[in-house]
Amino acid sequence: KKKKRSNAEEAPVKKKTEIYPQPLQDFEHLRTRYGVHGRIVRNIRQQAYTIPTEVQLGSLPLLLSSSTDLEDSVWETPNLLAVAPTGSGKTLAFLIPVVDSIAKLKASSNDETLADGDDVTPRAIVVAPTKELASQIVNEGRKLSQGTKVKFALMRKGMEVVERTEPATTSDDRTSDDDSDSSVVEPNETTGPAKTRKRGQLVKADILVSTPLALVNALTDTTGTTLPLRGARYLILDEADVLLDPLFREQTLSIWKSCTSPSLRVSLWSATMGSNVESLVVSTITSQRKAVELSMKQ
Ligand code: ADP
Ligand code: MG
Repeated sequence: KKKKRSNAEEAPVKKKTEIYPQPLQDFEHLRTRYGVHGRIVRNIRQQAYTIPTEVQLGSLPLLLSSSTDLEDSVWETPNLLAVAPTGSGKTLAFLIPVVDSIAKLKASSNDETLADGDDVTPRAIVVAPTKELASQIVNEGRKLSQGTKVKFALMRKGMEVVERTEPATTSDDRTSDDDSDSSVVEPNETTGPAKTRKRGQLVKADILVSTPLALVNALTDTTGTTLPLRGARYLILDEADVLLDPLFREQTLSIWKSCTSPSLRVSLWSATMGSNVESLVVSTITSQRKAVELSMKQ
């Protein structure tokens, strides 16, 4: 059967006017040029970071420019793949834009809750291959967002990300060592049908950081269906080369697929550029659905 020519096959890399935003020169430009929340810039300075690293210089202007600023440039796509060596400050590079955008949103809406229409899921998902790395990202994120209303959560066993209308299948094996986490609330005891099983704690945070498996488990319901993360506007894949390795690929793509927002912005960060990552670059700049489809075929 003749396959219809898909959008993905039609020159996915558009060579439009080669207008790149000016690289950032110092952290103060975050505020003066891009209007980044003053408190965030202060938090950066307080960590004694004086000069942005190369990957920060290059990526921040792209991620902080609005789509209208970038109209007619090659950067009309909101997605990004950044490759820079280990220790070059990629964490801060991906955290600044997402923390800034959520901080502003919460400040302007005067809204303490997460609810954004029907959205009850986190606004941003950060996926990292190990628990240790995920935990470091949360620590760095909390320092960066001090004094703003942005809340981070580290995904832990037994947590629920999507409010379910049916009893969860997670068994009662949660340990009590996580109970001090303030970003988690107990489920509302009055909602949902008869509680035959104890439900997990519902994550209540703007930015959720997780390993692939922990998140996939939390998103998979009793029938094996992946629940959608409707509220997620940002998906950040840290150590993307590892996340797209055969070991994690299926889980990572399942999370990607569950981010159903049409305005989803995906960014991939890696120290190396394996062929698996490279093929995903092409996929990333096409529609989310298309991207997932293409990668599954490899
Ligand atoms: P990567 O993810 O690229 O391997 P990290 O984000 O883990 O690197 O950063 C490595 C170290 O560099 C961290 O300790 C981080 O706090 C620090 N760092 C980040 N940005 C800067 C900067 N602009 N100046 C100095 N140190 C920085
Ligand atoms: Mg890193």
